[in-house]
Amino acid sequence: MHSRPLQENTMSCGSILQTMRSSFRIHGDDPIIIAGPCAVENEEMFAETAALLAELGVRLMRAAVFKPRTSPFSFQGIGEEGLEFISEIATKYDLSLVSEAMEASHIDLLADRVAVIQIGTRNMHNYALLKRVGAQQLPVLLKRGFMADSKEFFLAAEYIRKEGNDKVILCERGIRTFESSTRNTLDLNIVPVTHLTTDLPIIVDPSHGTGRADAVIPMARAAIAAGADGVMVEVHPHPAKALSDGLQSLDFQGFRTLIHQIREIYATVRRL
Ligand code: PEP
Ligand code: MN
Repeated sequence: MHSRPLQENTMSCGSILQTMRSSFRIHGDDPIIIAGPCAVENEEMFAETAALLAELGVRLMRAAVFKPRTSPFSFQGIGEEGLEFISEIATKYDLSLVSEAMEASHIDLLADRVAVIQIGTRNMHNYALLKRVGAQQLPVLLKRGFMADSKEFFLAAEYIRKEGNDKVILCERGIRTFESSTRNTLDLNIVPVTHLTTDLPIIVDPSHGTGRADAVIPMARAAIAAGADGVMVEVHPHPAKALSDGLQSLDFQGFRTLIHQIREIYATVRRL
């Protein structure tokens, strides 16, 4: 483990969270909640999901138009075609968007439309992309490489910060282990380890971390109880019909339950 902090004279976890909260008008007592479908599929399902988030007071929406898929034959995302309608829907429902850049050109395409740039698990080791996202000013959600240890993860964040962008939020999304009952093994150890080792906030993605909708709510609760600063969760109006990751996506009823429960647990943890 590193001796803390990795980098001197930078924004602290508290100030990054405060920046996030004030930029996105997140209530001070709320965890950071980023939710939405795995992929933007069409206008209708995106608008339906946006309306749910707005109703529940969730301010940050997943809006992936470029999708890194294991198989080249799977749905690769709606691409540039989706950019206009996701912006319109975000404006209508007063939401801020979080979207993944898989290459440098995506950052330019997303920059005027989204509030947070996501770097996915497969690109955590893509140092050219990390430098590029560090040289722009939008906050960056950096997902842990599925084969990366905590040191590699924290140093990937430093690649971004070294270029001048301190607004990095880490995201634990599960690592590859021998366990096969879940898609990945959600390493909640990294939550306290992050707080003990770095000055960065960390959120947890129990959707990719488990790969199964019936395990998402318990693991979201566990993440918040372990001290995570928030969660990222996949929610879809009809999970059985989703073009990607339907098995791990919550339906609207499940998502309402999750939001209610994690807000309660977050408030309790803050009082301890
Ligand atoms: C995602 O959150 O859209 C995603 C692809 O996750 P990961 O990079 O963690 O697999
Ligand atoms: Mn997904």
